[in-house]
Amino acid sequence: MPHFVAQLPSRHRLLILLVSLFIAVILLLPSEQASASRANESNALEVGKRYTVPLDLPTEAPITVLPELDESLDDLPLAAFGLTWTVLEVQTGDILASLFRKAGVNQQTMQQILDLGKSTRTLTRLFPGEKLEFGLDEQGQLQQLRYAVDRLTTLEISRQADGRFQVAEVKKTIEARQQFATAKIRSSFWAAGLNAGLSEAQIMLLAGIFGWDIDFALDIRAGDSFSVIFNAEYVDGEYLGRGQIIAAQFSNQGQVYQAIRHTDGNYYKPDGESMRQAFLRAPVSFQYVSSNFNPRRLHPVLGTVRAHNGTDYVAPVGTPIMAAGDGRVTHSAYNSVNGHYVFIQHANNIVTKYLHLSKRDVKSGDRVRQGQTIGRLGATGRVTGAHLHYEFLQNGVHRNPRTVKLPQATPLGGAERQAFLQQANVVLAQLQSQQQAYLAQQSHHNAAQTEAN
Ligand SMILES: [Zn+2]
Repeated sequence: MPHFVAQLPSRHRLLILLVSLFIAVILLLPSEQASASRANESNALEVGKRYTVPLDLPTEAPITVLPELDESLDDLPLAAFGLTWTVLEVQTGDILASLFRKAGVNQQTMQQILDLGKSTRTLTRLFPGEKLEFGLDEQGQLQQLRYAVDRLTTLEISRQADGRFQVAEVKKTIEARQQFATAKIRSSFWAAGLNAGLSEAQIMLLAGIFGWDIDFALDIRAGDSFSVIFNAEYVDGEYLGRGQIIAAQFSNQGQVYQAIRHTDGNYYKPDGESMRQAFLRAPVSFQYVSSNFNPRRLHPVLGTVRAHNGTDYVAPVGTPIMAAGDGRVTHSAYNSVNGHYVFIQHANNIVTKYLHLSKRDVKSGDRVRQGQTIGRLGATGRVTGAHLHYEFLQNGVHRNPRTVKLPQATPLGGAERQAFLQQANVVLAQLQSQQQAYLAQQSHHNAAQTEAN
């Protein structure tokens, strides 16, 4: 602390210098710049009103720098000069022709635009609530037409110097801001994910990222926890939605797993090893397994299940069953004990078996990919209820598919690995500090609660 105080006067001086510089720059700014930024700010145009703006329509896109006037006046985009704008909102029953008429633009001009072909065809499929922006010059001639196709794309039809129109698709850029979410699982992974503020897609993604390490259908327990750094996406400062998971940590039954997204779009462990493995821990998505979480429920593998060397997944009939790994189907058949069943031969002398299916989607001899649907869960054969009976054999010996050590996929190598490790360290440090900040806030909150009681 004293160290900081000692430094203060010089920092203070620097700050004053910076502020004065800033003011000087503002005072010296040319007036054109000021009007450009003004146009840029007045973003809320009202429907049905006419506006005159000095430059182009308000836009977040970078302002076009005009060429020097004396260079070639003919090449200047006319739309850059002062236009009068009419904004029309499409009403039910509106047709394009009526909108053009309302804006005071003749039908020949409309036809000229539609004749541009495919790129302007979208104008003939307008929906109520959408807006058309007509920019007319002093002679009342349409110079520019703007139409927001969606939140990210605007169609800009501009008249060129030769009188013809040209179409441009202007894309807004998505700005990603990092957000943090964390939760301790109490009732279910799904509920915890929603409580933490994750979208359903992000919850599925999170389960996918750790799906080679954790069986989300059977192995999630009360007290498990996770934390995530993800991108929140914004357009023009407006919230668009939740996006990619940047880094995640999952603590399952005391074991901590971490994953970081690499620039190749895949997730890797902090040391650069792939999250991807030759086998999924569960051949059923956790969201179908109704009994996937119940703290009072006995583990389904205990007792009878272990005696017959498999894992039972209880889920509704019709639930998709996935191939746990790449391989070749050796059996796709029916008998009175197994019901409809599928066996798959994988590399490293591993075989997986899927029993009691209601439907088989593969034939003997088929090649299958990891995650591919091979059939549907059912209650065929000798069963007491609908479930998938799943077996995992290595060299002919039954293994627990949820704990067996599996061969790793290729890790990142060379320079790519170095780049990843650097980025991974930064992101993981963020994850840790966010986690600590969250816990500190929680304990503060708890302390306050205790005092209140
Ligand atoms: Zn079984």
